[in-house]
Amino acid sequence: MTTLLITHAYIATFDDRQTEIPDGGLFIRDGFIEQVGPSASLPASADEVLDLSGYVVLPGLVNTHHHFYQTLTRNIPAAQNANLFNWLKTLYPIWARLTPADIFTSAQTALVELALSGCTTAADHLYLFPNGAKLDDEIEAGLSVGVRLHAARGSMSLGESQGGLPPDSVTDSEERILADSQRVIQRYHDPKPGSLTQIVLAPCSPFSVTGDLMRESAALARQYGVHLHTHLAETEDEEQFCLQKFGYRPVGYMQSLDWVGADVWFAHAVYANAEEIGVFAQHHCGVAHCPTSNMRLASGIAPVKEYLAAGVNVGLGVDGSASNDGSHLLAEARQAMLLARVREGMTGFSLSNDPARKLMTARQALWLGTRGGAAVLGRSDIGSLEPGKCADFFAINLNTLDLAGGAVHDPLAAVVFCQPRRVDTTVVGGKFIVKQSQLISVNEAELTARHNRAAKRLVNG
Ligand SMILES: [Zn+2]
Repeated sequence: MTTLLITHAYIATFDDRQTEIPDGGLFIRDGFIEQVGPSASLPASADEVLDLSGYVVLPGLVNTHHHFYQTLTRNIPAAQNANLFNWLKTLYPIWARLTPADIFTSAQTALVELALSGCTTAADHLYLFPNGAKLDDEIEAGLSVGVRLHAARGSMSLGESQGGLPPDSVTDSEERILADSQRVIQRYHDPKPGSLTQIVLAPCSPFSVTGDLMRESAALARQYGVHLHTHLAETEDEEQFCLQKFGYRPVGYMQSLDWVGADVWFAHAVYANAEEIGVFAQHHCGVAHCPTSNMRLASGIAPVKEYLAAGVNVGLGVDGSASNDGSHLLAEARQAMLLARVREGMTGFSLSNDPARKLMTARQALWLGTRGGAAVLGRSDIGSLEPGKCADFFAINLNTLDLAGGAVHDPLAAVVFCQPRRVDTTVVGGKFIVKQSQLISVNEAELTARHNRAAKRLVNG
């Protein structure tokens, strides 16, 4: 039995009442929070005591969409200035050279970047398995870093020869996809509170899998109680593709395949109209909002305000590192707040005298990154600092130059309004992943060198 006591911090609980405690702390036992409250109300001692006076403490952030392997293909000149379909066509042949070791190295890189930005739970969508690569390779990386992982077993089965977008060389047979999906569920999926590894089934997108595989994947996922994930309504290209090939808009296509429900979440969902937003709300589908990627690929701006007004669960995602090109989840909260304001600006905010019309706040952006993400992944054991929840949190020193002046007025909003940088402390299940801005579980210099070698080899062939 081990206990950890955090004292004298500015605690933002993100409980239902959004309680904030200026001189507060946490008492943690065996990876779960036992008490949250003013420092004076907590036990006087523990196995480890950390005085965080001058720090703000938040629940660990939850990343709801990523492709870890893309850290190896960040910022490739040929894909710097393309829209989604052209960007994909440039990168598919490079990704076809990925090895199992590349999947492991890139997953470690993405996960430690996430941990250094306050993330404690990450969903990753791996949808190509060339040269013997397996989902197991990234699960191993997840366990080596210590961040909770929702590993989405992706797939592509609709190659160019059948009217899909990817070259046939990166697709697989549906029989093999389903057999491997079942294997990883049976081997790794842990649904218990405090789980470190969960499996998700995730056919890649309407333009890279068949409707049959979507249906079969949904049936298999529901047999085991695992969640479903895919890209949806990301671009106007995709909308045209769905209308022409299937006779539906993307959301209607999902309804036709039984791909709606509280066990389904969609990445992007930029192009959803009012009726389709109503479909998500009615069926409790979740949305992974990826503002940086949507800007990077000039995809568009997701209607987040409308989703939230309709009661749709929305979380944040950094998306793959070839369209971000980083994995800083706190920065993504900032992007979400700023992009929501751009959208207000485009729809007449500066002319509006309607006092009910509000801009997205820093606290709302952080809510998306914590409670929103937890709801999207279907987890009630993470997302807030409350008794009984996982001891997942991060801390930021407020007495630094980049927060100077900002944190004295509002310590919590400062972490979004001011430029995010590395966090100081990240804890998952009571274990330190980051301490004094340094990684505990992985050697950063060795990983950086190994990652750069792999990236050079992969891109240069
Ligand atoms: Zn994606």
